Amino acid sequence: MSTEQLVDFDELLTRYEPVIGLETHVELGTASKMFCGCATTFGAEPNTQTCPVCLGLPGSLPVANEMAIESTIRIGLALGCRIATWCRFARKNYFYPDIPKGFQTTQYDEPLCTAGHLDVEVDGETYRVEIERVHLEEDTGKNLHVGGATGRIHGADHSLIDYNRAGIPLVEIVTRPIPNAGAKAPEVARAYVTELREILLALGVSEVRMEQGNLRCDVNTSLAPIGSLEWGTRTETKNVNSLRSVERAVRFEMRRQAAVLDAGERVIQETRHFHEDTATTSPGRSKEEATDYRYFPEPDLVPVAPDEDWVAKLAATLPELPAARRVRLTEEWGLSPTEMAWLVNAGALGLVSDTVAAGASPADARKWWLGELARRANDAGVELTELAVTPQQVAQLAGLVAAGTINDQLARQALDGVLAGEGDPAAVVEARGLAVMGESDELVAAVDAAIEGNPDVAEKVRGGKVQAIGALVGAVMKTTRGKADAATVKRMLEERLG
Ligand SMILES: [Zn+2]
Repeated sequence: MSTEQLVDFDELLTRYEPVIGLETHVELGTASKMFCGCATTFGAEPNTQTCPVCLGLPGSLPVANEMAIESTIRIGLALGCRIATWCRFARKNYFYPDIPKGFQTTQYDEPLCTAGHLDVEVDGETYRVEIERVHLEEDTGKNLHVGGATGRIHGADHSLIDYNRAGIPLVEIVTRPIPNAGAKAPEVARAYVTELREILLALGVSEVRMEQGNLRCDVNTSLAPIGSLEWGTRTETKNVNSLRSVERAVRFEMRRQAAVLDAGERVIQETRHFHEDTATTSPGRSKEEATDYRYFPEPDLVPVAPDEDWVAKLAATLPELPAARRVRLTEEWGLSPTEMAWLVNAGALGLVSDTVAAGASPADARKWWLGELARRANDAGVELTELAVTPQQVAQLAGLVAAGTINDQLARQALDGVLAGEGDPAAVVEARGLAVMGESDELVAAVDAAIEGNPDVAEKVRGGKVQAIGALVGAVMKTTRGKADAATVKRMLEERLG
């Protein structure tokens, strides 16, 4: 469908209500796979991290990875879920080459965690996202379709499969439908994945690098006429791999489905592919007929039965969760909720927090990261975290300014050096000779020269026009190339002209 046939977003909201839902797959950061001892290192030579178990060879027997089960329970606890006291893995039978066993070992009607929730905030309003289930399964291998233009199977000459990923523990987190987001549906979807990612990071269960596929989202979207008692037919946009794309995928599907419904047609229940370059979706597999996966309990694995003590022990390992941390820091740093939201949206919370931990005042840390550093990141087209400066270095820079060793202008020059790889701020200040001049002979000479060079201005100051002194301060700062302390210069001038 071409973009001309999309309905304007604001206009569609006058007639339709969206319902969204998200299924998020998270690759756990365990050292070994879910049911065997194979390594899980990302980027290894294809098919070097495999064994009879994850290749599904006859006679091999799986053993569940305890760390993966613990991570899943901790995720469930962080999301306020009920933890099952007894549950089993199941076989999901389907025949695709990326599943060498002919079935995926997953959880079906007995997930480890159920009935949780996650509150997310968009524009100051809180939306509760209900979590239906969190279950554990194994990842598939990775297909590589060679020879086609799109990298998809259509048009490819041949396909290669890398089984290194097959069997890596994968947690699936499924929300219940989110019906009341209205115009904010795209942002709520994004905020949910963002917050979930923060929680997973805080728990330390996954690297959650979306670009490496550690975190993959399937985004469900449907539209129904406003006031309708039934929800519309949903589409499932698969493997949306960036936070921004989650938002864009929902927005596009809403506009596309509105056009379909406006034309009197029906939305087809199907999976769709998201295209990063155009922010559009295109049809994938039709889901009109439910696939029969012939699930049955996995006979080769014992049931998982987390007892109360185990769950309590895991609950005690939960870190301070991101939402609680934000509330605490907002108070500790004396910020308004809006200021905290800016920090979060700028992706600077962790950096500012680390800078404060390294000794800077919260105000200085915020000033640097949201000001000078944000500007430089923006100019370079990179994220703040990608700048070649650490929170410790920023704290040191702020410390040098606070101690009067350098002023703001010199600090920016010192930052140039740090970013150019010349070392820590103190070393750059030393090497570049950036320290603020004391009341040295050199400064005295510069002050005298400024008075001599501007006799008319000096006369005005003597005559009581005190604000004229600014021009003389400027002249001194110019000759000292910004290294003088303006307040000191002003005082010295006043002494001479008073
Ligand atoms: Zn293996």
